[in-house]
Amino acid sequence: MQDLHTDSLALHGARVREVIARSAPKDPVREGHRAPSTPEVEAELRRWYAVMFAEGLSGADWPEEWGGRQAHHALHDVVTTEELIRARAPRMVDQVVLASHLILQFGTPEQKARYLPRIRSAEDIWCQLFSEPNAGSDLAALKTRAVALGDGSFRINGQKTWTTDGHWAQMGLLLARTGTEESRHRGLTAFLVPMDTPGIEIRPLITIGGAHEFNETFLDDVVLGPEALLGSIDGGWQVAMSGLEVERFGVGGNVALLAQLLDDLVVAARSLRVDGVWVVEHDDVRLRIAELTAEAEAAHAFVADCIETILVGRDQPGDTAVAKILHSETYNRISRYAVHLIGSGELGDNPDAIAAAQRLEDAWLWSRALTISGGSSEVMRNILAKRRLGLPQAPRP
Ligand SMILES: Cc1cc2nc3c(=O)[nH]c(=O)nc-3n(C[C@H](O)[C@H](O)[C@H](O)COP(=O)(O)OP(=O)(O)OC[C@H]3O[C@@H](n4cnc5c(N)ncnc54)[C@H](O)[C@@H]3O)c2cc1C
Repeated sequence: MQDLHTDSLALHGARVREVIARSAPKDPVREGHRAPSTPEVEAELRRWYAVMFAEGLSGADWPEEWGGRQAHHALHDVVTTEELIRARAPRMVDQVVLASHLILQFGTPEQKARYLPRIRSAEDIWCQLFSEPNAGSDLAALKTRAVALGDGSFRINGQKTWTTDGHWAQMGLLLARTGTEESRHRGLTAFLVPMDTPGIEIRPLITIGGAHEFNETFLDDVVLGPEALLGSIDGGWQVAMSGLEVERFGVGGNVALLAQLLDDLVVAARSLRVDGVWVVEHDDVRLRIAELTAEAEAAHAFVADCIETILVGRDQPGDTAVAKILHSETYNRISRYAVHLIGSGELGDNPDAIAAAQRLEDAWLWSRALTISGGSSEVMRNILAKRRLGLPQAPRP
């Protein structure tokens, strides 16, 4: 499979680099600081996202009638992500990818015609309104209620949390309870929600890195018409699970971030002295960096293999859970070690080392979020234990 696509992948990579050089925003991405901080940055981001769709860097896997490309292969998306990471260019908003996938899979023809073009033009950014203060890993415990009003519309009341990008999104994907509380996952329904609907209030949550990425979302007597229903009433679990699988698989090209972290670690370590001695002269430092490099290579090899086995339908249950654990926990270990090492010495005034140290600090502050979003490491291990090893279901916390 790899040979079959080598030329096409190399050509694609060259094209992506050319599009980035021509059109990407000039300010490099800071991990954990993805949402725009000013109206100017937001306008620039939206312009770039529209270019990404127009150039096939995003949405190339859609059906052709909605702007997809016939010659597209899933590995092209992996190459695109790797190139975007190398160039530190903005990657597509995860929730936009999620919404596109779910609208294409479950949307009516009217919903597709209404929303897909607005996604491609970046007029609509999407957010995900699933998690609640007491329903994250155990999503089926969610309490936000949607009551049918008899004329096909619904009245929604409840609270959501960790709404990434909710403060600049035009649309939200909402999961709400239409059945009884005991119905658990069988009584949930998915909705497409304009974020300016009366009764929606967004309150910011600021990260430890000082960024405004997340929000709490309050829904107070929000009325949605029948056109907001995505899929069937009480069929929301199927919609949500299809989306979470996309989110977990998104780790594919992201493992390129590990190589970038290691490069920064080496640059910073070379400029670092403790008590006047270069830290790279210490055996334990060189060994630890080599060890982390081996871990990153292993994560990269597993994820590359995992993508290929999924493409030929030979993946094993729990593969994407392993990929997520390997990527997010290796990311955490590299950045944590780097911050610890840099904090133990004097960095000097080499501007490359100072920039690398800043990126490593961003990565470390962001790294714990990576081990939680899209399913925490513990939940990933539960999935592996149950689906791969056939061990008993974990009790609810
Ligand atoms: C970066 C980021 C972005 C996010 N964006 C969004 C978003 O846009 N929209 C949205 O709806 N949500 C979003 N979330 C929320 C995310 O889905 C939840 O944080 C996640 O599902 C975990 O839920 P929780 O935070 O409620 O933790 P809990 O579920 O309360 O878990 C707390 C701890 O208990 C552990 N635990 C839970 N269940 C088990 C079990 N069965 N066995 C063993 N251990 C367990 C967990 O691993 C964790 O360590 C985001 C989260 C992050 C970190």
